[in-house]
Amino acid sequence: MSIEKTNVDIKTLVKKYNTPLYVYDFNSITERYNELKGAFDGKKSLVAYAVKSNSNLAVIRHLANLGAGADCVSIGEVKRALKAGVSRYRIIFSGVGKKDEEIREALSFGILLINLESEAEMKRVEMIARELEIEARISIRVNPNVDPKTHPYISTGLHENKFGVSIDMAKRMYIYAKKSENLNPIGIHFHIGSQLTELSPIEEACNIVADLVRSLQALDIEIKFFDVGGGIGVVYDDEVTIKPEAYAHVITQAIKGLDVTILSEPGRYMMANSGIFLTRVLYEKVNGDKRFVIIDGAMNDLLRPSLYNAYHKIEAVQKEGEMSLADVVGPVCESGDFLGKDIALPPLEHNDILVVHSVGAYGFTMSSNYNTRGKVAEVAVSDGKDYLIRERETFEDQIRLEESCDSSWQK
Ligand SMILES: *Cc1c(COP(=O)(O)O)cnc(C)c1O
Repeated sequence: MSIEKTNVDIKTLVKKYNTPLYVYDFNSITERYNELKGAFDGKKSLVAYAVKSNSNLAVIRHLANLGAGADCVSIGEVKRALKAGVSRYRIIFSGVGKKDEEIREALSFGILLINLESEAEMKRVEMIARELEIEARISIRVNPNVDPKTHPYISTGLHENKFGVSIDMAKRMYIYAKKSENLNPIGIHFHIGSQLTELSPIEEACNIVADLVRSLQALDIEIKFFDVGGGIGVVYDDEVTIKPEAYAHVITQAIKGLDVTILSEPGRYMMANSGIFLTRVLYEKVNGDKRFVIIDGAMNDLLRPSLYNAYHKIEAVQKEGEMSLADVVGPVCESGDFLGKDIALPPLEHNDILVVHSVGAYGFTMSSNYNTRGKVAEVAVSDGKDYLIRERETFEDQIRLEESCDSSWQK
């Protein structure tokens, strides 16, 4: 989302909601959803939004209204999806470490699929399904061992990563599940990484997994859902990334002859470029010949630069002047607290506003209360109007769960 495209006056938003602030463009989310869903036109498909990328209820509800499902990685996310109006038949529960309670709850909600990531987990799901006297619909996450060519922290499809099971193990698990009275193996899943900008690893993974589906067919195991995970890369800087049509084409080629519904789980693709972060300049300072712009936003609000050295474009709102390079840093007591390094910015003054771009995914959801900083407010902009979708956290909000505890340990 560029400042030009938002159709909202940033200064008005800042006046109304204060800073730091996340702002999401709901029209942009709609465009992204329609583009991807449209690319699968003519095929059976379900776009299951990866809730972890941005879990705000209003965001999920907006996508649910468009027809999206939800890919969840905790029971909390499953509950968010249900609360936001996602049909239970469009909810998938993934993740390497599900607890018994989470499995039990997910099964009793009757969601579309529980995605299994190990043989041990399959046995737990079977046992809990037996207790509940139901048949659990399952998919198995296959680790196709392909290199997604992305940042190592967000690569998930290599055997060295903790995710999924090998092809051989998956096959053994499907054969076991087929015989079980409490397991119904109807899905197959892979997710090789995030911020993928090349199609070839996806194509390779699709072919490997489609071949597995064919060999399962020969064993009378009918896979109905072919889940290609998420991972479509977005433009943060000047990346050339995957086009939805090309993505859909590669997938449909791989599954030729198979009667399956394509499931995709985009998070970043849907949200990253649909969100901006607004922050206020507190001070400028120069240490030696290094220029720092100190802002009221910090790593606890937007962790990606500190965690992955991720780049986000940063611009000053309505400021002119000679540009020079500066590190944009927050008030948190860590040297790793920066939102940008060597960013070209004009001379800035107290209360000037900076826009940090492409933060709609893995922005707010990764935020914390480090340094007893309250989580920031979130605002949606839709058809030129703005709506508060999460209140700014107060100091009282932060200490509530401590205040409510017994303090007699003092005596
Ligand atoms: C994180 C995740 C996604 C979403 O990844 P993006 O890169 O944001 O599209 C999809 N599926 C699974 C299983 C995930 O863990």
